[in-house]
Amino acid sequence: MDGVKLTNIRKAFGPFEVIRDVSLEIPKGDFGVFVGPSGCGKSTLLRMIAGLENTSGGRIEIGGRDVTHVEPAKRGVAMVFQSYALYPHLSVAENMGFSLRLARAPRHEREAKVREAARILQLTDHLDKKPSALSGGQRQRVAIGRAIVREPEVFLFDEPLSNLDAELRVQMRLELTRLHRQIGATMIYVTHDQVEAMTLADDIFVLKGGHVMQSGHPLHLYDDPDNRFVAGFIGSPSMNFVSGVVTRADDTGLVARTEEGELRARVLGPKPGPGAEVVLGIRPEHLAPVEAGGLPVRVEVAEELGGQSFVHARSASGSDIVFERRENRARLDGQALRLGAAAEKVFAFTPEGGRLR
Ligand code: ATP
Repeated sequence: MDGVKLTNIRKAFGPFEVIRDVSLEIPKGDFGVFVGPSGCGKSTLLRMIAGLENTSGGRIEIGGRDVTHVEPAKRGVAMVFQSYALYPHLSVAENMGFSLRLARAPRHEREAKVREAARILQLTDHLDKKPSALSGGQRQRVAIGRAIVREPEVFLFDEPLSNLDAELRVQMRLELTRLHRQIGATMIYVTHDQVEAMTLADDIFVLKGGHVMQSGHPLHLYDDPDNRFVAGFIGSPSMNFVSGVVTRADDTGLVARTEEGELRARVLGPKPGPGAEVVLGIRPEHLAPVEAGGLPVRVEVAEELGGQSFVHARSASGSDIVFERRENRARLDGQALRLGAAAEKVFAFTPEGGRLR
């Protein structure tokens, strides 16, 4: 389990606390992703693991060793940045071997490591080129190659794909997954893109305001979010939320009346009684037209994606409700419908955003 362990990590810039008491663990060999909106502190957390930023409190362990006050070069980590930061006057091979030259590694060892990294990254045919002769994706691979030759215990990635166009990003995402399988090192990756987080991670850590809101396997966060923030952040298009007031509650759940209709949510644990305010959340794929009950909406537009479509509808109170269609794809534009969902697919939250389970 000796991967990366953070215990009670805090960070303040002057009076501003940007990381508040974060404790987490990424097991050896796992791919961990820090995800959250801009300013949530994910880069700061990564930079503290790298040693590029000191901590205001807490302990950082890598491979069972306390590195909280160890200088960056001695932590066994290598970081890949969003800006590739390649040397323009050096060839691909020289860029990749640069850190080994600084460390005075013998030439044959340097060359062997660069060749192996180039093989893994499919850069063998480009080793003599200058970075200016490479595509964006190839440059990013060179930056990753520079990390690989150092054989770090932990790879740290700070939004490494955000300068690439959408198609290349998807391709590089797959390459990173393959790379991780192949070399098996612990990797920590920062992104604000939840799709990137979902597809890459063994473990996702969702951050907000310097706190970890929830962590776990991507599908666990998707299927069983702890709070409204995680429920809304993970998943694309986002979960639909409607406010309501509890009208009935029994052993298996509660019924809430929203402004326009009624929905039943499965809640097995403690639940608020009639009159309490709740927020109900339903993913687009769990909402479908029903004959009676549910929420009345009027269809506005459909996004046709080929394999499925996302239909945007408006409820009487003006909220945008999105539902997915796969089978029956007849046009619904302008139609009035009722949308329902199975109770076990309806999540209930308190007005403060906590989950009622
Ligand atoms: P983004 O996706 O926009 O990069 P982030 O989640 O990575 O966001 P951080 O870069 O970690 O966020 O920044 C967290 C907070 O700390 C922000 O409010 C930022 O303004 C602040 N911050 C970061 N570095 C410094 C610094 N050197 N001095 C003062 N404040 C800083």
